[in-house]
Amino acid sequence: MDSKTRLPSLVGLTREELGSVLEAAGIAPRQVRMRSQQIWRWIYGRGATEFSAMSNIALGLRCELAQKFFLARPQIASRQVSADGTIKWLLRFPLREGEMRAAEAETVYIPEENRGTLCISCQVGCTLNCTFCHTGTQNLVRNLSAEEIVSQILIARDALEEWPAGPDRRITNIVLMGMGEPLYNFDQIKNAIDIIADGEGLSISKRRITLSTAGVVPMIERCGAETGVMLAISLHGASDEVRNKLVPLNKKYPISLLMAACRKYPGLSNARRITFEYVMLKGVNDSLKDARALVQLLKGIPAKINLIPFNAWEGAPYECSDWEQIERFAEIVNRAGYASPVRSPRGRDIMAACGQLKTTSEKQRAKARASAD
Ligand code: SAH
Repeated sequence: MDSKTRLPSLVGLTREELGSVLEAAGIAPRQVRMRSQQIWRWIYGRGATEFSAMSNIALGLRCELAQKFFLARPQIASRQVSADGTIKWLLRFPLREGEMRAAEAETVYIPEENRGTLCISCQVGCTLNCTFCHTGTQNLVRNLSAEEIVSQILIARDALEEWPAGPDRRITNIVLMGMGEPLYNFDQIKNAIDIIADGEGLSISKRRITLSTAGVVPMIERCGAETGVMLAISLHGASDEVRNKLVPLNKKYPISLLMAACRKYPGLSNARRITFEYVMLKGVNDSLKDARALVQLLKGIPAKINLIPFNAWEGAPYECSDWEQIERFAEIVNRAGYASPVRSPRGRDIMAACGQLKTTSEKQRAKARASAD
């Protein structure tokens, strides 16, 4: 169903928006609060996808709501499960007016021993063109709406049968590290975060939500002040010379400005550190001199460092650093006081690892087009 024929969705509205929409739909003003609360709990606490399930709402009103609003999930275009338990979904969102092709984005669930992380996307494609990132080789198609961002979590909870989510829930952490740049879609991200963190719904605390940015400096302060989530910076280079090549956005917002913004990040403390991501690229940013420069650069900032082995993709202009080199690099980082920093790649067999998202579906489409010709 496309969005021209589809009713407006109640998913992805903030509490205030939900109240206004219900009032506009004719719910008596003195009932709006109670009804919003009930509907909120059904959607985000119980995972309801139909109004008919909302048993504490009078039948007549349920029918009325169903005639005016929509609750269903986006379509799951594909789902893959890795040998290591990682799950990747490709979601297809309803066509919007003017779109020739439905937007698609990927979501990845990564189970670990004592936590489970859901990596969600905030844009279809990306504008940033980071030279080591596969998403960066695809053009930006569009921003995802708060509905589309939150739906990624609803779908994962459906699959893991987490309605309602108890204390042993499997999705414990959310990372905004999928496709796209969250700080270029801030308004929708902010609403989505408010919904995700709401204690009467999905209830994932802001301490367990991490937003990763390539360094959109002017938005970093607002991000901290208005969302209160944990921050991750895709650093990848400790000098402007190296970083300019890897993250072209660095030419606009060089390292000195980025570090100044990090030092001022609202709420920053030893208990709430910034994560710096550093992808290990052979002969590009992996020398011991680079490691020392990295440690020097982060001095005084409450920080965690994630060294990420580069996930190669077809045609990539880089190779992953040798394992011994990563270990030597990590040792310098360790000696400076940062614990166990090498992140092991997950879901490689299903192309779900960092920076590999969306590639397969694009390829499949190209193949399908080629065979149709
Ligand atoms: N735009 C945001 C979020 C998306 S990228 C950002 O730049 O932070 C999420 C993380 O995956 C980033 O740290 C990114 O640098 C990393 N990444 C991208 N491609 C990768 C690859 N091929 N191998 C390893 N990590 C990669």
